[in-house]
Amino acid sequence: MADLVTPGTPPSPTPASPARVTVARRTPGWSRRVRWARRAVQALVVGGVGWLVFGHATGGSSAESFCPFGGFETLWTLITTGRTVPHTHLANVVLAAAVIGLALTVRGAFCGWLCPLGSLQEWLHGVTGWLASRVPPLRRLRRRLEHLAAGRAWRRTDRVLRWGRWLVLAWAVIGAAVTGTMVFREADPWIALISVVEFELSLAFAVLVATTVLAVFVERPFCRYACPLGAVQAALGALSPVAVQRDAAGCLGCDLCNRACPMAIPVNTRTRVTDTSCIGCLDCVAACPSAPALGVTLALPVPLRSPR
Ligand code: SF4
Ligand code: SF4
Repeated sequence: MADLVTPGTPPSPTPASPARVTVARRTPGWSRRVRWARRAVQALVVGGVGWLVFGHATGGSSAESFCPFGGFETLWTLITTGRTVPHTHLANVVLAAAVIGLALTVRGAFCGWLCPLGSLQEWLHGVTGWLASRVPPLRRLRRRLEHLAAGRAWRRTDRVLRWGRWLVLAWAVIGAAVTGTMVFREADPWIALISVVEFELSLAFAVLVATTVLAVFVERPFCRYACPLGAVQAALGALSPVAVQRDAAGCLGCDLCNRACPMAIPVNTRTRVTDTSCIGCLDCVAACPSAPALGVTLALPVPLRSPR
């Protein structure tokens, strides 16, 4: 049976006073199932893409035709000329349509559950964090970085850098429409990753290396600061009726949701998490010890709600 804990205090194994208001404690089994379900989906997708990359290296079709962002890059040329820009196919357009549908229903969940580049960054950060917890000099370095990340200067820098996604989106889509080529392809770490077997020194490879190094210190750096597909979903996700919802009455103020969020969203200051950075990973919900405090709910999208 679920334990009872008192809002405003850390969860305690001792029974709560009958005079206090209590909330039902989330069962660890539920949290574990959510985390494992996401990991299983991510592993399946990464495995599938790995298979395609291996197939391409041995003469099969390129995994590039399975990138939804190619569909957005080719859209203008397809509408105006009936042709797709080089390196894209109708498969890209179909996948782009699927991503639009997902964003309109479950916000950024594509990034949190399906994007292989996002999963790889997340795993790299997790593995290096695990190593850091076991190697004392790395542990000290990590603590220092965490201290820095909690400071006002880094938070301000982080906020400014997050505009990068919108700039990259504008450059990629307008550039492709004007030139009829995939301008973003030259800097796309995804392209460098799927062609890693045919190694070539390029801007895309440099971005991949930078993403890999940054992912050791920052969770999902490419998703946060540069991914144009993330920006598309952020824009469309504003129309989604689904979001993580926090009930302040059940909140214990324990901060576990904030610490679990890979996108550094201050979940415990929100009533409804409609932040454009949310990737729908549900790590905050899985980390929350209070069952009524955090959950996923349906509500009218923000732009359709009457102003308060
Ligand atoms: S707010 Fe929750 S669901 Fe959204 S990114 Fe953060 S942890 Fe994931
Ligand atoms: S919403 Fe966040 S701060 Fe509140 S109880 Fe859940 S994990 Fe703790």
